[in-house]
Amino acid sequence: MVRVRFAPSPTGYLHLGNARTALFNYLYAKHTGGKLILRVEDTDRERSKKEYEDMIMEDLKWLGIEWDEGPDIGGNYGPYRQSERTEIYSNYVKKLQQTGHIYKCFCTPEELEEERKKAMAEGRPPRYSGKCRNLSPEEIKKLEEEGKPYVWRFRVPDGEFIIFEDLIKGTVEINVDEFGDFVIVRSDGSPVYNFVVVVDDALMEITHVIRGEDHLSNTPKQILIYRALGFQEPKFAHLPIILGEDRSKLSKRHGAVSVRAFRDDGYVSEAMFNGLALLGWHPKGDNEVLSKEQIISEFDIEDVHNAPAVFDRAKLKWLNGVYIREILDLEDLTQRAIPFFEGFGYKAEFEYYKKVMEAIRDSLETLMDIEERAKPFFVDDFHYSEEGKKFLEDDTGYKVVETFYEKIKQLDSITKEDFKKITKEIQKELGVKGKGLFMPIRVALTGETSGVDIATLVEVIGIERVKHRIQRALEYFG
Ligand code: GLU
Repeated sequence: MVRVRFAPSPTGYLHLGNARTALFNYLYAKHTGGKLILRVEDTDRERSKKEYEDMIMEDLKWLGIEWDEGPDIGGNYGPYRQSERTEIYSNYVKKLQQTGHIYKCFCTPEELEEERKKAMAEGRPPRYSGKCRNLSPEEIKKLEEEGKPYVWRFRVPDGEFIIFEDLIKGTVEINVDEFGDFVIVRSDGSPVYNFVVVVDDALMEITHVIRGEDHLSNTPKQILIYRALGFQEPKFAHLPIILGEDRSKLSKRHGAVSVRAFRDDGYVSEAMFNGLALLGWHPKGDNEVLSKEQIISEFDIEDVHNAPAVFDRAKLKWLNGVYIREILDLEDLTQRAIPFFEGFGYKAEFEYYKKVMEAIRDSLETLMDIEERAKPFFVDDFHYSEEGKKFLEDDTGYKVVETFYEKIKQLDSITKEDFKKITKEIQKELGVKGKGLFMPIRVALTGETSGVDIATLVEVIGIERVKHRIQRALEYFG
């Protein structure tokens, strides 16, 4: 059975790159009927925060990514937080000590820096010289007695090539001489990422390691550790890097990059899910607007492109608009829009919000657009735009509004149909039509020369508010 994992470090918000990694793991698990494990890589004590862990989980859930095992729900392979697995790691460090795969290195940071500079100057890749590789037991004893701090280094076999089949990149071949003996345990006793990740992936019986391409250079080191510990190697799949439109690595410079920022900017989760799935993968047909179920059924890890994925912000916005306008159920959409309405100070009952959403959804790309589009439904004492004023400063325009008022002042309700009937009558009586007829009424009711359908607006805001606005305009321009 396929077992994949998403292993975030809780050092910040979930950004698009990691969200895409989580999503592809999820899709692969769902597609194959396997399991997704959430593992929190919180070994960096200073930068890891529980708040970030909570927020990452919340953002994953918001996106519609659920996991089968994790720190919050447990499972048979826990604990699922690296900070709770210290003892497990020490046991495997001991194992590597006993088999001679690691050795103590007493080189100081200054010495290592010196070596690095020298290598750079000579145009060689900087790597550890192996100075402490063959210290005698006496030498080690002496250094220890002097209280010299040390790290544990992995003894990398000279000149070996690590070759593996990446499910996306194809055959990857790396000469271990490129990196040399690397650190497994720091001088403070804490084990490093490359080591703990192998222990965890092996013990959690991960079958496929699907992660960002930025980890590709770690993989040969991890393979060496798998072999040293006698663990079975998983299959690897490295996802293509995500670029901004200028083809440089996607970063904050390109604008919002965290899932949370998109959510706050009025993106709906279905559009994010769909949009993230297209970062490095493409459905077989031309239609890119796909439901979660369709994506799960079509997705396969081997179909992920082995070329950088360019994040197209405008396309994601377009996709978001499609979900808002055409796909989401009105009731559900309204529910999600409430925090936005409230944030803009537009207070009302659910049923009223729902009517407003029905009226404006066709004009929305994000839920942020609610501020502008829903304004006529909430604000009675608006300003008249300069362009709008012209229609009411005009005698005929004023007369239209006056006549309109005459026809509604006795009413105690008004529907779209009533509104249409009334404007037809005015058209007949005054001989005005088109812009000359509708613009003055529009401006009197909204202050603007464009926007929402006026018949709908009138029906939703109701007769009292219509009267109020019309009276106000007649007074203002009279
Ligand atoms: N914690 C690592 C990261 O956030 C993930 C490591 C991995 O997937 O192997 O980049």
